[in-house]
Amino acid sequence: MSPHCEKLRSHGLKITPKRQAIIAFFEKAKRTLRPEEVWTPLKKKFGRLGLPSVYRNLESLVECGILTRIHKFDNNRHYALCHASEHHHHHIVCVKCGKIGEFESCRLEKITAVEGFRVLKHFVQLEGVCAGCEKH
Ligand SMILES: [Zn+2]
Ligand SMILES: [Zn+2]
Repeated sequence: MSPHCEKLRSHGLKITPKRQAIIAFFEKAKRTLRPEEVWTPLKKKFGRLGLPSVYRNLESLVECGILTRIHKFDNNRHYALCHASEHHHHHIVCVKCGKIGEFESCRLEKITAVEGFRVLKHFVQLEGVCAGCEKH
């Protein structure tokens, strides 16, 4: 069983053809994608398919850790494949091509309290330029 299928199963989600197609599409693209970019090829494959259904499938894949949400300041939703397992990690995004990297060293884990607050979690995302884009 692929690690993706395991992640789906462990979260009680079915391995549907649509979910498999979405995962395959992300694997092929190797970059961040917007729901609309996923929708176009899915419509070709499955015929009638609403954008809300694409949104729901993307969110369920985020829930089980196969995809991750990527934040950009353009008011669009962006998603990317997350290769890491359950351990603590964050993502770096190439601002030129949308390639995703992962890193584990995170000093924020040490911060357990901020004056007047107990820290529960943190969100970190780095932006950068990947080695491939740096060459051009
Ligand atoms: Zn790049
Ligand atoms: Zn962290």
